Amino acid sequence: TPRLSQAMGIDGNTILAESLKKQGVEYVFGIVGIPVIETALAFQMAGLKYVGMRNEQAACYAAQAVGYLTGKPGVCLAVSGPGLLHCIGGMANAQVNCWPLIVIAGSCPQDHEGIGGFQEWPQVESSRLYCKYAARPPSPRLIPLHVEKAVRLAASGRPGVSYLDMPGTLLMAEAEEDKVPMDFYSAPPVTLAHPNPELVSRAADLLAAAERPLLIVGKGAAHARAEEAISKLVETTKLPFLPTPMGKGVVPDESEYCVSTARTQALLKADVIVLLGARLNWMLHFGQQPRFAPDVKVIQVDITPEEFHNSIKSEVAIHSDIKPFTEALAQKLAEKKFKLQPASNSWWQALKQKQLANTEFVKAQSSNTAVPLNYFAVFKTVQANIPKDSIIVSEGANTMDIGRGLLLNNKPRHRLDAGTFGTMGVGPGFAVAAAMWCRDYAPGKRVICVEGDSAFGFSGMEIETMFRYKLPVIIIIVNNSGIYSGFPKDVMEDIQSGGDIAQCTPPTALGCEIRYEKMMEMFGETGHLCRTVEEIEAAIKKAVAVTDKPSIINILIDPQSNRKPQAFNWLTESKL
Ligand code: ADP
Ligand code: MG
Repeated sequence: TPRLSQAMGIDGNTILAESLKKQGVEYVFGIVGIPVIETALAFQMAGLKYVGMRNEQAACYAAQAVGYLTGKPGVCLAVSGPGLLHCIGGMANAQVNCWPLIVIAGSCPQDHEGIGGFQEWPQVESSRLYCKYAARPPSPRLIPLHVEKAVRLAASGRPGVSYLDMPGTLLMAEAEEDKVPMDFYSAPPVTLAHPNPELVSRAADLLAAAERPLLIVGKGAAHARAEEAISKLVETTKLPFLPTPMGKGVVPDESEYCVSTARTQALLKADVIVLLGARLNWMLHFGQQPRFAPDVKVIQVDITPEEFHNSIKSEVAIHSDIKPFTEALAQKLAEKKFKLQPASNSWWQALKQKQLANTEFVKAQSSNTAVPLNYFAVFKTVQANIPKDSIIVSEGANTMDIGRGLLLNNKPRHRLDAGTFGTMGVGPGFAVAAAMWCRDYAPGKRVICVEGDSAFGFSGMEIETMFRYKLPVIIIIVNNSGIYSGFPKDVMEDIQSGGDIAQCTPPTALGCEIRYEKMMEMFGETGHLCRTVEEIEAAIKKAVAVTDKPSIINILIDPQSNRKPQAFNWLTESKL
């Protein structure tokens, strides 16, 4: 048993485990080794759920996804030195995404420090850049306090990352049970910041005077669980809204007021924008020209005042949780009897026209089912055949970009993708977390992991994790034999015969028509190889029927398929 303690003693592992449990942590993803094997056992003894993964990076992605899905930080557990360093990319991703995460790593015994201890590394220092809080509890007695602080900092305000460093000596150390403040408080949840009513009035006045108003719904709104309030606001005011990639589903993508299909135009022409939990970073073109009107007025709502006026000055900046703000704004607008009339409103008419034109383009592309398939035909088929309330995990360059428009989310927090940091390799880790969450809280709900072939390669071995924990993730690999795009087999052979292999093989190329679905055979199962729309339909039907293990659907598409017909392909000389 992990409780190494004698009659009255309690060890560091147990204190850590029970403190996490006490603070409401539920899930741990990790990889064990010296000195955290007993730690993971202690976690299980304390009633935490532990999922052993194959790479710390994927474990770290899983822990942060569960934090986003549940609002409570998940834990990533790693060994010392290399183990913790493999988590760093994941920590940065969580921090940049504003997702709650706690990383806990074992570290070299304190009496080996400075003399070349096994896997010795300055772990607290290394983590600090990627964290809101990084510390090593100085004694077993102080572990509960540091755990409380780690959880509080990760989850409150703008969510982010906490790191706790646990030397082997600390994990094994014993303390007298009655001297450890295990009851170190679990405080009531922080009261949400409410908006200043004066600022709400100003926001309402601005909106009422706007000619071309627009709501932008970001993943901060998803994190705030403001879906009901925002949906109501949209329904009653008929304001056009634009979700960011992971803001999709806060208001259903299928809402008639969603203007994703006229995104460029909506951003370019809007004169008043309400920014609900989104940052004006690269994803929103910095809110600047040429993608926005020069005199656009922004009503910025954020839990983090430090974010205000970043990139462009906001007309009204409101420090508030999204939900109470949205409710207050809806009330004010109702008092003003504010409501757009999409049928006659000229802004709505312009947007609708654009939506129609863009939809035509996609329709034409997606109904072209010639083999090898293009992206649009693939995504149309996937969308038509998956359960509509699935959680969509998506990454890859073209796969993610083109898929975003065609794979719809009608529920909040049902899309997990490369995010603000643009991290590739997140998919399988996110999918493991999402499937664990579904098993516990939404039985029957499916996780569809739509991967480019390059993206899948980063963490493909997590398929074993999915088998071990019986997670019915449906992995769909949109395989174009390359990064961005690849080459047909014969062209590739030609290219590679042209000189030194490391000099002539295009950096964007991956192996041609790789049979990723055969990974299923490692587990005595059969995967699906698809080249046609009919094969995709049949494969998804079969995969949906499987409920106790993952499936892999490997779709070979045209290696040169692209977002829009390109004026120049990569072999043509650049005009720059
Ligand atoms: P997106 O990628 O969708 O544009 P971002 O991650 O850039 O979203 O921005 C999310 C913003 O939401 C951050 O500035 C964050 O501080 C803010 N935020 C997070 N939670 C809340 C909340 N409960 N209420 C208000 N703002 C929030
Ligand atoms: Mg690819």
